[in-house]
Amino acid sequence: MSGKIVVISGPSGCGKSSLINEILKTEKNIYFSISTTTREIREGEKEGVNYHYISREQFEKEIEEGAFLEWAEVHGNYYGTSLKPIYKAIDENKLVLLDIDVQGHAIVKEKFPRILTSIFLTTPSQEELRRRLEHRGTDSADVIETRLHNARIEMARMDEYEYLLINDDFEIALEQFRALVHVAWLKPSQSEISSFIRKW
Ligand code: 5GP
Repeated sequence: MSGKIVVISGPSGCGKSSLINEILKTEKNIYFSISTTTREIREGEKEGVNYHYISREQFEKEIEEGAFLEWAEVHGNYYGTSLKPIYKAIDENKLVLLDIDVQGHAIVKEKFPRILTSIFLTTPSQEELRRRLEHRGTDSADVIETRLHNARIEMARMDEYEYLLINDDFEIALEQFRALVHVAWLKPSQSEISSFIRKW
């Protein structure tokens, strides 16, 4: 066995975090990567649980030091995945779960083409996304407009992903997500293939 990677992307507010939280309750051997960001902490979020919150200066310093596997600027803030814990989790044969944007996904796809399963999650419509962002109540009207604008840009890159999940009925989306996480374990790495063939 070797570690695998599952990337889930999709417009902000489409329900990625809720799906991930449910999956983490039941699935074994998953390492959920906690990203680093320069965005403001939202009400209800916690340092080290949702993100590591740092300043722009600190983030730029870490970029220079090569601390990130990937990083991107999203909605005017930096977001990045720390490199070391990801390699460690892969070495420990874990399934690494990444909630990252389309730019981050493109980088991970380039670095780990064989062991990656990619999922794009979205709402059934733009109107539904707006309704959810407004209902969440954490963003100002301006921020909601930016997120909707970015959502349209992200949707245009949906074809870079293997799977599409529509979060209409949450329970159905959760079952589909769970099925994909199970299938993700069956992606053989190059070394798994070579060693299996040798033994076989
Ligand atoms: P939010 O501010 O709503 O938590 O996240 C905004 C966007 O940033 C989401 O699309 C999320 O997937 C993305 N994101 C979160 N962490 C990372 C990361 O480490 N790298 C990249 N590239 N995107 C991230």
